[in-house]
Amino acid sequence: MPINWFPGHMNKARREIAKAMPRVQLIIEVLDARIPFSSENPLVEGLRGDTPCIKVLNKADLADPKLTKRWMAHLEQREGVTAVALNGLESKRVKALVPLAHSLLPADRAKGKTVTTMILGIPNVGKSTIINTLAGRVVAKTGNKPAVTKMQQRIYIGHSFSLLDTPGFLWPKLSPPSCGYKLAVTGAVRDAVTSFEDLAFYAVRVLADLYPEELKARFKLAELPETEMEILEAIAAKRGCIGRGGIVNLQKVSELLILELRRGAIGRVSLETPESIAEERARLEAEQAEREE
Ligand code: GDP
Repeated sequence: MPINWFPGHMNKARREIAKAMPRVQLIIEVLDARIPFSSENPLVEGLRGDTPCIKVLNKADLADPKLTKRWMAHLEQREGVTAVALNGLESKRVKALVPLAHSLLPADRAKGKTVTTMILGIPNVGKSTIINTLAGRVVAKTGNKPAVTKMQQRIYIGHSFSLLDTPGFLWPKLSPPSCGYKLAVTGAVRDAVTSFEDLAFYAVRVLADLYPEELKARFKLAELPETEMEILEAIAAKRGCIGRGGIVNLQKVSELLILELRRGAIGRVSLETPESIAEERARLEAEQAEREE
């Protein structure tokens, strides 16, 4: 899906991360548990060297618990990575990140040093909610709107812990191209730059393939029709998204579907698995190789 990325933002993010790295003992990367691959920062692995990293799979309350487990195991295959699944709105679980960070840096703790961590995450992933909970006060603006954080800031949490908060840029994870759709469906991309119809066609396909029972139950459909359009028409009929002359209001039904999906009303749904990403990449590479022949 064509998303308007800002290459300037990407370069700025790279500069900021690289500049901060020498001061940072640990990275906390907040991922969306529904799309752990698509919401991951592609710069971090290349820039972190042997700095340990906690990957927080946030919004785990909205994600498929089985897949979240698989993703955690997958991410922990990397050297120095510890994965944690969280509901960022549960403050007790969030606060446990501080002792976890200390436990990963026992030498620093023994020396009584202040641990400096860098926290990053794409817009709307729940980073500010986590920061405010850790700080015990409002230091970062929250809200269900992408791109609220603007400047890097340092936040002290007690005497022995600090967070460098990097702006919530959306970094281009452009391959495979479905990443753009997933980021938009989960709400990381501002709705103004995407069309709900486009997203609904994508989302309905994923739901019909991976979560057909949840989709049928939510919209009281006895059967799932075959095409995306037919499924959307069936949902429209159930929810009264029909205009004059019996014409389906596609905009209305699309928006309804996406908003219900985002708030978890259709069920705990994840949009990607380690295998689906690997398959998609292999398919792209094969297509690329074919074009080059
Ligand atoms: P930021 O842009 O990453 O700083 O995101 P915010 O902290 O502002 O959170 C974006 C929205 O997600 C807010 O409406 C939060 O209440 C909500 N939110 C944050 N964490 C979670 C979570 O784990 N589960 C759910 N369901 N909502 C969350």
